[in-house]
Amino acid sequence: MSDQRLGIWLVGACGGVATAATTGLLALQKNLTRGTGLVSELPLFAHLDLPSWDQFVVGGHEIRDVSLTDEADRLHRESRVLDAKLLDACREDLKAIKQRIRPGTLRNVGETICQLAAETPYQDPIAASDASGQQAVDRLKSDLQEFRQQHRLADVVVVNVASTEASNTAESSTGSSTMGPATWPATWRETQALMDCLPASSLYAIVAFELGMPYINFTPSLGAEPQGLDDLARIQNVCHAGRDGKTGETLLKSVLAPMFTARHLEVLSWVGHNIFGNLDGKVLDNPVNKAAKLQSKDQLLGKIFGYSPETLVSIEHIASLGDWKTAWDHIHFKGFLDTPMTLQLTWHGCDSLLAAPLVLDLVRFTLAAKSRGETGSLTFLSSFFKSPQGIDEHAFAEQYGWLLEWAQQSP
Ligand code: NAD
Repeated sequence: MSDQRLGIWLVGACGGVATAATTGLLALQKNLTRGTGLVSELPLFAHLDLPSWDQFVVGGHEIRDVSLTDEADRLHRESRVLDAKLLDACREDLKAIKQRIRPGTLRNVGETICQLAAETPYQDPIAASDASGQQAVDRLKSDLQEFRQQHRLADVVVVNVASTEASNTAESSTGSSTMGPATWPATWRETQALMDCLPASSLYAIVAFELGMPYINFTPSLGAEPQGLDDLARIQNVCHAGRDGKTGETLLKSVLAPMFTARHLEVLSWVGHNIFGNLDGKVLDNPVNKAAKLQSKDQLLGKIFGYSPETLVSIEHIASLGDWKTAWDHIHFKGFLDTPMTLQLTWHGCDSLLAAPLVLDLVRFTLAAKSRGETGSLTFLSSFFKSPQGIDEHAFAEQYGWLLEWAQQSP
């Protein structure tokens, strides 16, 4: 790709994933790290004309008025990640990026996220300025236009790494529940009329599409899932990808479940317990926010097996663990002569550091797809997501195969 400047607009710009992705990008720009964990740095993709790290400028939306450097320091202090020397080298850049972070919208995000915003509020009450969905879209759009103009950006990718909204319903920002349609309409025209019911994640997607910018939904929130939003993306000739980054326990499930199928072993039950202590975990402690995540983590097994074993997924917030997530999976299965057997495994990963490289990879691959003129949902990126949009394949090997196939079709 040429040496044009490109923008990454992070929605949830001071959260754990955003802070790790931003610091990671700075480390790459300063040659302070190698590409471990980055799929796009694999030799398999070396022939692609992907943007280079130093082309990127970061900005974003947030609902908490917090310092990006404090958030990075907190990750270092509480979770023992992000090296102190690396942080010192990035400190001034992180301060500059904070100047490019604008107040986001709280429309229909649910009570927990509104409370989170209230703990460290921006001076201008955000929710009050977004009396309607359209007003929110107009305000957010002007932030992105300014970012694009000020930094002379040839393209900007909007990435949703904000807290998980209350489960696919639209709860009003005042807390009262106004459910969104069970089935969203198929066209943009019909969906537009329901703009006031859409949650923030979908409003950010609309903003991106109307400005001709790709949108990536790294969260289980609704985002660009309604068909009417995909319709808007296609009208605007722009692409999108989502949803819910596949970083840890679900990644393992999507690799291991096909093994049981291939060996004709019958899985009777699959139990996954997840414990972690970061801000995401705190938001997911509320059952309405947790519901979207649980559904995203649980659905794939039945789809891979073609039958439904007993399943249980739990997510519990244990503050002392900080950003470190432990997942314990217990798989009970039947072998030859109906003999019951068990596989147990423990995954101990740093949540933000697992997610951050995938965010950067998705930005690069999405920009490459845009330059190839691809529009609508980018199904070749399904291996990155727990709930891939526009496709019902969950086995990791098949999904990864599509990424490789796409890369081989490189012009
Ligand atoms: P986090 O709680 O640390 O960060 C979320 C940030 O979003 C916070 O700073 C919050 O203030 C901000 N925010 C909330 N609502 C907003 C809105 N409407 N507009 C703008 N900003 C808003 O969470 P995290 O660990 O960074 O995870 C971010 C998202 O990515 C979550 O939805 C999470 O479920 C999802 N995700 C994370 C992982 C992972 O960490 N491994 C994997 C898959 C998906």
